[in-house]
Amino acid sequence: MMINTFKDLLDEMSSASCDKIYEFIENTEADFLEIKKDDFRLRVKKILDTMKNSVKAGLNSSAPSKSGLCGENTDILKKSFGFSEIEGNGIVSTSSGLGLLSPFQKRVALYTMSVIEENARMGKIAACPTAGSSGIVAGVLTALGDELNLSDEILINALITAGAVGEIISKKMALAGAVGGCQAECGAASSMAAAACTYILGGNNEQILNAASLALKNILGLTCDPVAGLVEVPCVKRNVFMAIHALVASELSMAGVVSKIPIDEVVDAMKETGDLMAGSLKESSEAGLARTKTALGIENILRQKM
Ligand code: SF4
Repeated sequence: MMINTFKDLLDEMSSASCDKIYEFIENTEADFLEIKKDDFRLRVKKILDTMKNSVKAGLNSSAPSKSGLCGENTDILKKSFGFSEIEGNGIVSTSSGLGLLSPFQKRVALYTMSVIEENARMGKIAACPTAGSSGIVAGVLTALGDELNLSDEILINALITAGAVGEIISKKMALAGAVGGCQAECGAASSMAAAACTYILGGNNEQILNAASLALKNILGLTCDPVAGLVEVPCVKRNVFMAIHALVASELSMAGVVSKIPIDEVVDAMKETGDLMAGSLKESSEAGLARTKTALGIENILRQKM
């Protein structure tokens, strides 16, 4: 069975009389891999466990990355947001101060930052869909899990749903900054996280894919211009922004706000935008932020140091 578009997915689901994206994917993947459905879910659980462990590892470290460009931000957020005492799968907020973000959004920001800083330290993360965007789905999912006390089964369903979105986007273009700019990495991750979040909020398939579409279309044209060629600046903070972006897309979709452009057309537009984007803005560090005066200074210092 060839599923190249989201329309294909919905058509195939209809033919199979299956109304849940995760159920359809686990059935087809188990068939394709010639394994039992439970074994497929175990594979996904391993990814989920890696995500959870990367959150924990990141929360427990303030070590700088090898370049020294990041590593301190998780600790800064933890203190500023009033999170403390690692308990079980997560940490508890003792914050009572005012803030523009809700306690849940702060948790998402913190967990996302912890994973992506762990990535910068070369710790173990789940590339979802890439290492450079690994904080987004992991941050949103694990924060939802802790906040709502969700079972692994629900989180696995959500992760499979997110995976379906990433997989279908990848049929049109490689999910790599070098190919499509950061829209193809952090953008795709945000779209995946929006879908997962909407599944957890009880959204139907239309709302899930609408959330994915809303998230994706609002990052079209995002360039990949990492300072000194390292996946740290702007990547680390960008992950946090894109995790919150996913929450907005999900909330809009659940509220009934509909993307005028359906997701398949948004993916087509992303591919076209990526093709039109100059090579200098696709991970070559030859333009954009990577060529600012400060970035060049950082590059120079790192060259001498490393
Ligand atoms: S800016 Fe480039 S390297 Fe950094 S996360 Fe985005 S795609 Fe990856």
